[in-house]
Amino acid sequence: MRGLGVSPGIAVGHALVIERRSVPIFRMLVPPEAAEGEVLRLQRAVAQSREQLVAIRERVSRELGRPHGYIFDAHLLMLDDPLLVERSAEVVRTDHVNAEWALRTVSEQLRGLFEGLSDAYLRERGTDLDDVQGRILLNLSGAGDAPSLSKLPSSFVVVADELLPSEAAELDWQRVLAVATDQGSPTHHTSILARSLGIPAVVGLVNASREVPPGALVVVDGSRGELVLEPSAPMLARFRATQERARQEDEALQSIRGVPCVTRDGVRIHLLANAEFPGEADTAVQHGAEGIGLFRSEYLLGRSGRWPSEEQQFEVYRGLLERLRPWPVTVRTWDVGADDLAPGGPSSANPALGQRASRLIGRDPAPFLAQLRALLRASEEGPLRVMFPFVAGPSDLRVVLDLLAEARASLRAEGRACAEAITVGVTLEVPSAAVTADLLAPDVDFFTVGTNDLIQYLLAVDRVDPRVSSLYEPLHPAVLRTIAGIVAAGAAAGVPVSVCGEMASEPLNAVVLVGLGVHELSMSAGAIPRVKAVLRGVTAEEARRLVAAAMGLSTAAAIEAMLRRELARALTPAHTR
Ligand code: PEP
Ligand code: MG
Repeated sequence: MRGLGVSPGIAVGHALVIERRSVPIFRMLVPPEAAEGEVLRLQRAVAQSREQLVAIRERVSRELGRPHGYIFDAHLLMLDDPLLVERSAEVVRTDHVNAEWALRTVSEQLRGLFEGLSDAYLRERGTDLDDVQGRILLNLSGAGDAPSLSKLPSSFVVVADELLPSEAAELDWQRVLAVATDQGSPTHHTSILARSLGIPAVVGLVNASREVPPGALVVVDGSRGELVLEPSAPMLARFRATQERARQEDEALQSIRGVPCVTRDGVRIHLLANAEFPGEADTAVQHGAEGIGLFRSEYLLGRSGRWPSEEQQFEVYRGLLERLRPWPVTVRTWDVGADDLAPGGPSSANPALGQRASRLIGRDPAPFLAQLRALLRASEEGPLRVMFPFVAGPSDLRVVLDLLAEARASLRAEGRACAEAITVGVTLEVPSAAVTADLLAPDVDFFTVGTNDLIQYLLAVDRVDPRVSSLYEPLHPAVLRTIAGIVAAGAAAGVPVSVCGEMASEPLNAVVLVGLGVHELSMSAGAIPRVKAVLRGVTAEEARRLVAAAMGLSTAAAIEAMLRRELARALTPAHTR
């Protein structure tokens, strides 16, 4: 089965199929005098659900960080909502039905309301409602303490239609070999969790949860986005061999962890890590990152629907600087709007082209101002860089720089410590910004190319739509020319250029970026060792020569074929040569 690989690696194991709505719901008339007993049963199940959710929230906050814990605040609020519980009790009393049926009836009505909403973020809350309803039903059935996902008897590959946040958080991740879901996207919470935990994951498999029998042997290949059901012996042997090769390679790569990334002709390349969660600072250090090149701050929101306070943020940014010292930490300001992370959610018909990031300042500058204040304060603690995303040109840049000045002025007015100079950069990910890089350069200290979005906008290929993913080509001549233009504009103005999109994590593309003149690459931490090994095996001169040859070719396929041919040796890990 083909899906979308969202967390790399291969896992082989038996399937644990999670089937939702497995609690039978039936309608039963109860005699009027028994109605209060039913209401009591409902209230007990709600109380039990509340205790469970509070415990989960605490455990998740402790183990995965506060933002993940916030998810459960929404569930707890639903439990307290009279529209759900009191209304269900009313249905029990008036219709004389069992608690399960009353809860189901009321939930369905609410579900209908959620679905009718035009706001995608609020529509999404329907999933939370299902989650809460499922928990109460389970507690009503007395099965709340039955075998639980938080204590698995052995290791499994988890297969599910969709893994709800509370299920994901309850999971005994130590015993999860891989995750495969019918729905989902790379930005789904479960994908993010799997990636940060280094567990292979494939989403968008459409029918896996129906077609994979519980207990069946499956292989999940998170790198290729595949699930293989009951693999044949030779197939299994091939997967095991790939898995073993990857293990050996990882082991061999560990030896260069503390070694700098220098090309064979002495050009120093800095490799940094991208991170979504504060906890990833450790992973970055373990993989030899020389700083954080992109901290996607909007993940601090999780699904809480609430902006973290200035103080909460200050602690996070300071913590990152402390952990990474002496290396820099690059915090991207709120890049919300294109997904479900913004309180209020995406408000545009096509959110990737709509009210995203600084375009939301007009709607409410307060959260942006609070973030900039936290960043200015934290920058006293170490080499902090602030990066503005989704800037479309000089006028956008003006808006965010003015807000930065306002944040600084407000701190000064309060007599608070605030760094005089702060390193400020802009993400070049909107084609119009790339084309006007020379006009942006005088006002910033660095450029970073966000290839994930740049490619999406340049090639008109939706980056989260699996149906067009074959058209998403990092080596497209337009992409190479655009990056070359940015590097030239940066060089002319003395502004350093880094790349922080996924393109940098693919060794072949990393060579191209170095050939284009980029000397700082930021990627998911796990990709650093391999990119470093490959870059240490080439000369910058050779990379430049290959880029010059690529510029003479007209398709990404031809460019890739030429590069693979020319770089065959450099791309083969030394120990397998
Ligand atoms: C990018 O667009 O390349 C980028 C680094 O940011 P994100 O993937 O978060 O949009
Ligand atoms: Mg981006």
